[in-house]
Amino acid sequence: MKTFFAEEQERHDPKSFLSSGAPKPNPEVPERTQRLLAGARAAGSAIERPKQHGLGPIAAIHTSEYIDFLQRIHARWRLIDGASTEVIPNIHPIERHGTYPASAVGQAGYHMADTSCPISEFTWESACWSAWTAISAAEDVHAGLPSAYALCRPPGHHAFADVAGGFCFFNNSAIAAQRFVKSGSRVAILDVDLHHGNGTQGIFYRRSDVLTVSIHADPVRFYPFFWGHADERGEGPGLGSNLNLPLERGSGDDQFLAALTVACRRVEAFAPDALVVALGLDAFEGDPFGGLSVTTDGFARIGEAIAALRLPTIIVQEGGYICDALSANLTSFLCGFSGRHSI
Ligand SMILES: [Zn+2]
Repeated sequence: MKTFFAEEQERHDPKSFLSSGAPKPNPEVPERTQRLLAGARAAGSAIERPKQHGLGPIAAIHTSEYIDFLQRIHARWRLIDGASTEVIPNIHPIERHGTYPASAVGQAGYHMADTSCPISEFTWESACWSAWTAISAAEDVHAGLPSAYALCRPPGHHAFADVAGGFCFFNNSAIAAQRFVKSGSRVAILDVDLHHGNGTQGIFYRRSDVLTVSIHADPVRFYPFFWGHADERGEGPGLGSNLNLPLERGSGDDQFLAALTVACRRVEAFAPDALVVALGLDAFEGDPFGGLSVTTDGFARIGEAIAALRLPTIIVQEGGYICDALSANLTSFLCGFSGRHSI
């Protein structure tokens, strides 16, 4: 399977991160891409540079107001006397009404869900390349390749149409899916990241042309808290097109695979023309987020189960943080998906 990767994605290097109110180093570090590249190479994947695709495919998912904000906010922020180096919000609207704030501080609170997605000088460039990486993989699969892996960084599944959050800026999985919708195809997005794909759910919540399914740690006591519960099924025309499968904290391979069986059955019933897998590797038992207990071998079984759907598939990298087995977990998934044992 081909891997798409652009080194510009490593320029985004967030420093700040609040965890339970305490400042800690941001875990979404550029080193992740080197570990993931090693994992893809070990699975026998050739690395290819994505093409630039302009803003069109991004604007098909995100609002122009948000795109403009993301492109300019860092330069504007630096003009504020005494401001932080990175753009970090400190006030949020409880409800969003028609009024749009003119100030950089107001707009940061309007467009950023939390403090874990600081915007620095290179965030825009890396986020664009991350989206183009997903689009390049989608283009290849749309042209007839059975599958492709998009090594996207920063990740995307917590980004809504006009809100960044949880390390994410552009929703790469949604952008890849929309590429298929554009040509009249039906698409399912299957999110296996430790965290609920709240941005992806939000983007398609009122649509019936894209099925969104997410398996994740129960948000009742876990990020993103306000989304990801089993009773969120979609709204209006989208009612019944969203499926959340929250798992108890600490769940291992067997519980995850049981949920995946339910997820795959729903995907089959939707009868899509293509599948986007939002691949987080942070459900791993040794991941620093410590939410679930999937093993390295478990990722191979997850890959096998998804491959059994026999759909044209774009695998989009989401979470998965620095730990000894990060490379091996990707290798395991890709080999499982390709029907080969890990090397
Ligand atoms: Zn995650």
